[in-house]
Amino acid sequence: MIPYGRQEITAADLEAVAEVLRSDFLTQGPVVPMFEEQLAAYCGASHAVASSNATASLYLACRALGLGPNDRLWTSPNTFVASANVALLCGAEVDFVDIDPATYNMSVEALASKLEQAKRESRLPKIVLPVHFAGQSCDMQAIAELAQHYGFRIVEDASHAIGGSYLNAKVGNCRFSDVAVFSFHPVKIITTGEGGIATTNDSELAYRMALLRSHGITRDDSRMQGDSEGPWYYQQLDIGFNFRLTEIQAALGLSQLKRLDAYVARRHEIAQQYDRRLASLPIIKPYQCPKARSSYHLYPIQVEANRSRIFKQLREAGIGVNVHYIPVPAQPYYQHLGFRASDCPNAVKYYEHAISLPMFPTLTEEQQEKVCRCLEVALQ
Ligand SMILES: *Cc1c(COP(=O)(O)O)cnc(C)c1O
Repeated sequence: MIPYGRQEITAADLEAVAEVLRSDFLTQGPVVPMFEEQLAAYCGASHAVASSNATASLYLACRALGLGPNDRLWTSPNTFVASANVALLCGAEVDFVDIDPATYNMSVEALASKLEQAKRESRLPKIVLPVHFAGQSCDMQAIAELAQHYGFRIVEDASHAIGGSYLNAKVGNCRFSDVAVFSFHPVKIITTGEGGIATTNDSELAYRMALLRSHGITRDDSRMQGDSEGPWYYQQLDIGFNFRLTEIQAALGLSQLKRLDAYVARRHEIAQQYDRRLASLPIIKPYQCPKARSSYHLYPIQVEANRSRIFKQLREAGIGVNVHYIPVPAQPYYQHLGFRASDCPNAVKYYEHAISLPMFPTLTEEQQEKVCRCLEVALQ
């Protein structure tokens, strides 16, 4: 089966991991801060806080921004469930802003009109969490203008988008947001096995996320209440989890980071080949917004004909196609909370026709040609 996404592990990755395994620290050593520093520098942000996965990072970002009971977070319905779940895990309410039918990202127009209505009802969100679907940035400048006007904070779910750009600057620079979060799950652009990171230009937010990542405990004298009692001393200032990334994972991340630009370039080659090869087929190819350069985490197409049959036929031919995403409000858990997918008609329509084709840097020309041929046959 040709999978829809796959990691690449090189000899250099293996050596980087082995080196940490032979060192003094498997966790809480020097490699995680190095990874954080290099990743922040890559994105052009002042700070980066690594964690055990992107779900944890999204949660830490929301907690650090003070999201809690009586607050609201709005996100996209066309995402992995974690983007919405973090609001509920903070005890807040969640709601969904329908997607733009061209980009499949949160619609800025829908956001603007929902904000106008929420203002009248005094139900404005504390946080808006846009998701850079398939690796293509949302229109962050427009969302930031709305944030100025309505007074909400912005957390970017950039799980798909590391290595992508918006207005000629790297996603994660946080020029138009408070925090941006990346995932290092193996299907994403670079991997640490499991792992996530949050970038920000706000040093207080970075401190809060780091504090909550490790039980709410500090060893920094300047942050303590009263005086330190000695070198052994620490204080718990808040209630947090253990959401730390290990040194082993960070070493893999640092090694993979060196190939990030090459990976994104290769993903663009694959996308261009799909664009050419599928040009005459009755499908809609992923639209590329001129303000953004996608990292091409996914290559999602829309098929007019019976999606289920085409999907099944491709799987039977050994093509590991996938579907991204079932609208979150259609999930039983969200249905029980009273959500209806029909409130996000664009997300539902998109979902019903969506197929993600295999997209990963080590996909060979022969494999890609097989994907295209099988799709041609399935569409006949
Ligand atoms: C993968 C993903 C997540 C969760 O990332 P983990 O690192 O697996 O926790 C969240 N949001 C989106 C959009 C994702 O694709």
